Amino acid sequence: MKPTIALLSFLTLFLWSNAQDMVLPLYPEGIPCASENQQKTREVNNGSERRISAVQEPEIAVYLPAKSNANGTGVVICPGGGYWVLAWDWEGSWMAKWLNEMGIAAFVLKYRLPGWESDECNDKVALMDAQRAMRLVRSKALDWRLDPDRIGIMGFSAGGHLASSLSTHFDAGDENASLPVDHFSSRPDFSILMYPVVSMDTTIAHMGSRKNIIGESPSAEMEAYYSNEKQITAETPPALLIHSDNDRAVLPENSIAYYQGLRKHGIPAALHIFESGGHGFSFGKGRGDVEGWPRVAKEWLAGRGLLKKKHRALIVDGQNNHRNWPETTPILKQQLEETGLFIVDVATSPPKGEPMDDFRPSFHAYDLVVSNYNGDAWPEETRKDFERFVHGGGGFISVHAADNAFSDWQAYNEIIGLGGWEGRTEKNGPYVYINDKNEVIRDDSPGRGGNHGKRHEFLIQVRDSTHAIMKGLPTKWLHVEDELYDMMRGPAKNMHILATAYGDPAQGGQGRHEPMMMTIHYGLGRVFHTTLGHLNESQLCLGFKAIFQRAAEWVATGQVTQEVPKQFPTATQTMLSDPPK
Ligand code: ZN
Repeated sequence: MKPTIALLSFLTLFLWSNAQDMVLPLYPEGIPCASENQQKTREVNNGSERRISAVQEPEIAVYLPAKSNANGTGVVICPGGGYWVLAWDWEGSWMAKWLNEMGIAAFVLKYRLPGWESDECNDKVALMDAQRAMRLVRSKALDWRLDPDRIGIMGFSAGGHLASSLSTHFDAGDENASLPVDHFSSRPDFSILMYPVVSMDTTIAHMGSRKNIIGESPSAEMEAYYSNEKQITAETPPALLIHSDNDRAVLPENSIAYYQGLRKHGIPAALHIFESGGHGFSFGKGRGDVEGWPRVAKEWLAGRGLLKKKHRALIVDGQNNHRNWPETTPILKQQLEETGLFIVDVATSPPKGEPMDDFRPSFHAYDLVVSNYNGDAWPEETRKDFERFVHGGGGFISVHAADNAFSDWQAYNEIIGLGGWEGRTEKNGPYVYINDKNEVIRDDSPGRGGNHGKRHEFLIQVRDSTHAIMKGLPTKWLHVEDELYDMMRGPAKNMHILATAYGDPAQGGQGRHEPMMMTIHYGLGRVFHTTLGHLNESQLCLGFKAIFQRAAEWVATGQVTQEVPKQFPTATQTMLSDPPK
């Protein structure tokens, strides 16, 4: 039996291990309001869970969801314990694991418990720690694949007081602060308040928490400051409140008062009071109907869109022979954001001719990179990063003149399939077009690569309506005024033409159907290449927009879940969207 028992306990240990991904100190630069008390932080493990007291070095324990499951939402968790102890697992690490299962990143906050600090600092340290934790998490959004606008706070009991304190006492960050972390906002985007202490009003306050944070005889001013139901403003984030009717330690009136305060300011909120559960119920196991709260919370999170997966997109710009690039990047950014599927960053290179050595965007942190760039060569390391990114499965979109760039960078030319100008000739690959018999022709004869006639409106002809990007869209539609690229040359490996346009000789074209939109597979990466987009209006064309949005999802995920837009250009009628505000 012995080995079995050993194996079992190993398995139990494994299943119940609460290992975080990492622990980060809140104040590597030095702890403000540090206690002079020499006592060390105490951790008591009662066999199944840990309790922490006398916190001297505040920190966050980071729990990240599986990358494939991560949805971009994050939650800072404040365990409870009456502001004298932290129920570290019961209301901390176990909740982190539960949030991770939903794809949410979680950060358990080891905040300072008042009582060890000077009179001046006593009431402030916990809130200070929560504010810093929120800024710290936001500052790491890129590393942890978080949406900086979907970071909430969850608090239990006294930790609920801390969470509601942060929800009513935050700031937007200080752009001029010397530490970068202090540039970030400390406002939570939502709060989940579990049987929270909210008020310091003696008629409903939890007296133990009240004493620990503001003392036996606080001023009326201090009592009001920490009575969070009185501190609600129009900026306070939406909240979910969960309480038990039979909670005798922290009266449900605390949650009710906060809910009414939110209501007064028109802030969306949900309040669930279960009949049973008592106080400090954690998951509520064996405590009656309160056991259903995790489902209620999950539905609330889903209802607020917080479980919807967001992908990360990066637009690269900074140089382009098209001087309107500072206007087209916002167009592309808005089109991506409008889908609700993307968090979008922009990496802007130094201007033409200036040193590029430090230009090294973190391509690997993204699901999708869009190039609005046509300019100086990138440094060797940046080129290698980009190749690895696409080859390893990253999505890439080349817009209009991005296919002029980097004519002597072989991998880039394989990634975009076809390019033009910048000295391109037959040496870069064949001129690819579609003939009258709908055959794809790869013309190896000598000649330049890249040409266009006069700008004009022209008809786009879809060549593969079965492709996810094109499915359901009209097969012929009139594009607004744009350049019709022709004589494009390149390796054209693993390239699939989705749409073409006829280059009318009367407009300076070649009298052939030229590829307008292509997909290319490079390693594991999916690539979409559109030659359209010369003018701002060319990119505001509803046809350009819908296909760009669909292609972005396709290169990032391999599928398209967006509905076909109701408004779309017809074969005779162009159609424009509004420019970004
Ligand atoms: Zn152009």
